Amino acid sequence: MLSLNRQAIALISDHADPAAEIGSEEAGGQNVYVRHVGETLASLGWHVDMFTRKVNADDEDIVQHTPHCRTIRLQAGAETYIPRDQLFGHMPEFVSSFQSFQRTQGLNYPLVHTNYWLSAWAGMELQKTSAIQLVHTYHSLGAVKYQDRAKTPQIANTRLKIEREILERANCVVATSPQEQETLRSLVSTQGQIEVIPCGTDTNNFRLTSKALARAKLKFGSQEKIILYVGRFDERKGIETLVRAFALLKEYDLPHLKLVIVGGSSANMPDGDERERIEHIVDELGLRDSTVFTGRIGHDILPFYYTAADVCVIPSHYEPFGLVAIEAMACGVPVVASNVGGLTFTILPEETGLLVPPKDVVAFANGIHRILFDELWVRKMRKQASANVNQRFSWTGVTIQLSELYRHVLARSIMHEQAWNYKMPSITRSA
Ligand code: UDP
Repeated sequence: MLSLNRQAIALISDHADPAAEIGSEEAGGQNVYVRHVGETLASLGWHVDMFTRKVNADDEDIVQHTPHCRTIRLQAGAETYIPRDQLFGHMPEFVSSFQSFQRTQGLNYPLVHTNYWLSAWAGMELQKTSAIQLVHTYHSLGAVKYQDRAKTPQIANTRLKIEREILERANCVVATSPQEQETLRSLVSTQGQIEVIPCGTDTNNFRLTSKALARAKLKFGSQEKIILYVGRFDERKGIETLVRAFALLKEYDLPHLKLVIVGGSSANMPDGDERERIEHIVDELGLRDSTVFTGRIGHDILPFYYTAADVCVIPSHYEPFGLVAIEAMACGVPVVASNVGGLTFTILPEETGLLVPPKDVVAFANGIHRILFDELWVRKMRKQASANVNQRFSWTGVTIQLSELYRHVLARSIMHEQAWNYKMPSITRSA
């Protein structure tokens, strides 16, 4: 429903469908981010249209999330899954589908917020033919990803070029952590406007509740020491490090240890090579009996997993932000994570979790061990972790900052102002 009183804006999220099931191999933080930002912006008075590529002929073309927030699935290539690295060739069709949607609906979005480099390209194309203001969030950076890999895909150079162009040409880039901002400055470009606005989490859904009840619901024993991983199966998530750390802990004959790996595709969908590789390592190390692969879990049940866990482990090689960390902490679970990217921004060492070097199996094993066997300290961390998230990362607070940023960008375009004098509103609130 489009209201004349509301300013219509567009969020573009080419491959990450905000209306998709979260947690499958392809659907992750970006889907969660765009959907929550879109819905919350609508609750703040905007009309929000979220555009994505249609990947399934059975999916609806338009999903209405709330009266003023909808997902629009555009034709761009075959209506089937296409790996991200092969999507660039379909982006011109995405742009023309976007433009024809605008025309048929009689809309003209003055502000477009793009997500991921493919959408950035679409945004810059739109900028050529209409007077839009462009805001961009990267979610993942080729400049970091390709540092770590001997073999880069063919698309790498195009991606790096577009990542630089968007930083220099967007009205503002949103970095989700100060660490991401530094990375952008050192690896992408020294030009362009960056504001730091973190990701958020639904603190009504992820919150402190009873561990005993969560364990009963999931049929976990009260004596079990539960080590939890939540996320996609992707080599860069470092699940192998966690499995090897778990094996090390098992060598010490510690009782009741259980590794719970949450994530993957929903029923009947293959999970890809990384899951196979991880399962193989689990078998090789003789951990099958003490490891559970749950598959994809929705956000309705996921809080029970966090709450039931003793520790949540995030062994990523790099994370620009890392939603899982704030979801776990919001539920009062201490985190052991790699000291990389946004994880060093969200986790307060010794207060809400521990940070250790990525890929360091022994450091992960030690960190997990400390948390599993220090009950007093953990009781304190539980409260601190949830307060940390409530104060800094609620979607409402985060989206208020985005909303203010949009207003500033739009006002500046009307006034033809050159100077960038945006003042970030302070939104922290006590738990
Ligand atoms: N997720 C989920 N179900 C699962 C696995 C993951 O809902 O089975 C969600 C998780 O709750 C989080 C997102 O997927 O909201 C992952 O975001 P994160 O930023 O941690 O990683 P990304 O996928 O963006 O690399």
